[in-house]
Amino acid sequence: MFTKILIANRGEIACRIIKTARVMGIATVAVYSDADCTALHVEMADEAVYIGPAPSNESYLVVDNLIQAAIDSGAQAIHPGYGFLSENAEFCRQCAAHNISFIGPPVEAILAMGSKSAAKTIMADAGVPLVPGYHGEDQSSNTLKLEANKIGYPVLLKAAAGGGGKGMRSVFSEAEFESALESAKREAISSFNDDIMLVEKYLLKPRHVEIQIFCDSHNNAVYLFERDCSVQRRHQKVIEEAPAPGITQTLRLQMGDAAIKAAQAINYEGAGTVEFLLDSKGNFFFMEMNTRLQVEHPVTEMITGQDLVEWQLIVSAGGHLPSSQSELKINGHAFEARIYAEDPDQDFLPSTGKLNLLQPPSESANVRVDTGVVEGDDVSIYYDPMISKLIVWDTDRDRALTRLANALSEYRISGLITNIGFLYNIATSNAFRAADVDTGFIEEHEEEIFRKREQDISYAAPLVTAAILKLRTQKALHDAHQSNEPNSPWHLTCSWGITQQQIKAQVQQAIIDGMPNPQTSLDKVTIVDEGASFDLFTPQGFFHCAEVQPDLGLDGQDLDSGSLKAPMNGTVVASFVNVGEHVSKGEVLMVMEAMKMEHAITAPSDGMVIEFYFRHGDLVDGGAELLAFEADNT
Ligand code: ADP
Repeated sequence: MFTKILIANRGEIACRIIKTARVMGIATVAVYSDADCTALHVEMADEAVYIGPAPSNESYLVVDNLIQAAIDSGAQAIHPGYGFLSENAEFCRQCAAHNISFIGPPVEAILAMGSKSAAKTIMADAGVPLVPGYHGEDQSSNTLKLEANKIGYPVLLKAAAGGGGKGMRSVFSEAEFESALESAKREAISSFNDDIMLVEKYLLKPRHVEIQIFCDSHNNAVYLFERDCSVQRRHQKVIEEAPAPGITQTLRLQMGDAAIKAAQAINYEGAGTVEFLLDSKGNFFFMEMNTRLQVEHPVTEMITGQDLVEWQLIVSAGGHLPSSQSELKINGHAFEARIYAEDPDQDFLPSTGKLNLLQPPSESANVRVDTGVVEGDDVSIYYDPMISKLIVWDTDRDRALTRLANALSEYRISGLITNIGFLYNIATSNAFRAADVDTGFIEEHEEEIFRKREQDISYAAPLVTAAILKLRTQKALHDAHQSNEPNSPWHLTCSWGITQQQIKAQVQQAIIDGMPNPQTSLDKVTIVDEGASFDLFTPQGFFHCAEVQPDLGLDGQDLDSGSLKAPMNGTVVASFVNVGEHVSKGEVLMVMEAMKMEHAITAPSDGMVIEFYFRHGDLVDGGAELLAFEADNT
């Protein structure tokens, strides 16, 4: 076994790997950029090596710096984590060239699966079922369009080098094809520096079910069952679970066998995931194989009781798989929710800032939090905005789901916008409880998940009022206790000009009137006082309520015209209209990119752009005015 390994990654996955290495008595070397000098993974590791400036292409993605760091620190192996260089064949090759073990598959396997197109050809030859599509070499727009027409709409354009849902566009008609292709290619170039595209039939309402496989260098291969990752936004996983609900033992066996077949077709070694789309009739189709540890591996660990990082280390060091297929069993049910710094109400726009308050739920045998940040850390523009992964386990799906909702309602983060409320709404929705999942889940249940606030306000308002009253009463009691004159009238909470009893009676009445379910009481509600606002976790979902100052119309501005502001720090990657050209409401004027994701700036009404303040390639601060716009009626 290795005695020292270097972890070529950061954040929660670096911390996760360090934990297992420590248990196994293996020393760890962290690497860090300028942005991560005081990061948790640096603190946790036995040693740390500086590898460059904050942007990942100048640090975490620089092969030479990482290899040098391993040589200098005397590490015998490198764990690449996920993302960054984990599926980079050149990195794997350089490790071998310097006699360093790469904790991952052989380079040939990475190469074989590195391109989604090439992978499909190999899988077709191995008899693994595929989604119908074009994965050929001719990349002219014309050919791609002809192929799309042949497949029949809707189709999905995918970057062959893709990952993380980037460089992917669904196309519903021929008319949309060209602009979708352009946009997908642009995102692919910026994310992967490669814009080779494949076209697939876009399956409607499939489930994403993936199989965790493991192989060693002694010809042993097992699958550690499946994960359902259907709940996605922008083709990216949001909540994952294991086992997949409603999967029969027969289907599990068939998918497991197909996954092993896929792995054996490329002489695989180590941890891998074979991703399938599963239709409602139980047909499954190979999508891609990820030749690394997945973000969502903890749900598999929870139901199998295995430590997959330990398995990786054993296999990389030439050992045998710790368990045979017959020894592996599913025990209970697990969920993982990805806690992100992002705004679900603004199309999941990443948010940045300081984690002023960070209080995760307490960990236990049922609740696990994998994170790489601590209170006071910044979520910067440089890296993925994931704050942590919340993983829960219980004996069955229902119980595990209740644990998930409870743990989410205990999570306290302030300083930036997170998706916790959104995750809570999914966890408490009837559809998710009924395990009615497919990859369109979020769109299909938009109403329930995003909670049309106008409709729910009659439900939330009395609760908030009661909550405010409760908090103020508690504070007043506390102040009275602290005071020399506990009976002073200044400690009463009747600042609204009526007595406390009257307020209480009014609130009680409002609660009874306003609640769809009168059994709901404040006891079932978690209230988080954020100072100027309140977060409510109720059985009906999450509410964020703020006290709004009355609008006196003093600085009102016409929202239809004037300036349009950058929604975040980012780069202008395209503008679609000319100054003075007439546009319709909703038309895309400009595209910005942040954290390798595109965000469209659209016309707020019919009108025209008077001036663009930024051009292609410009770096823009969030909140900066992007352009001057004149609406038709002004
Ligand atoms: P990435 O590598 O970028 O994550 P994947 O190929 O794994 O991309 O696909 C991501 C997600 O996109 C899938 O989980 C699924 O929801 C959706 N998807 C991919 N291919 C198809 C398809 N042919 N039809 C419908 N949905 C698809």
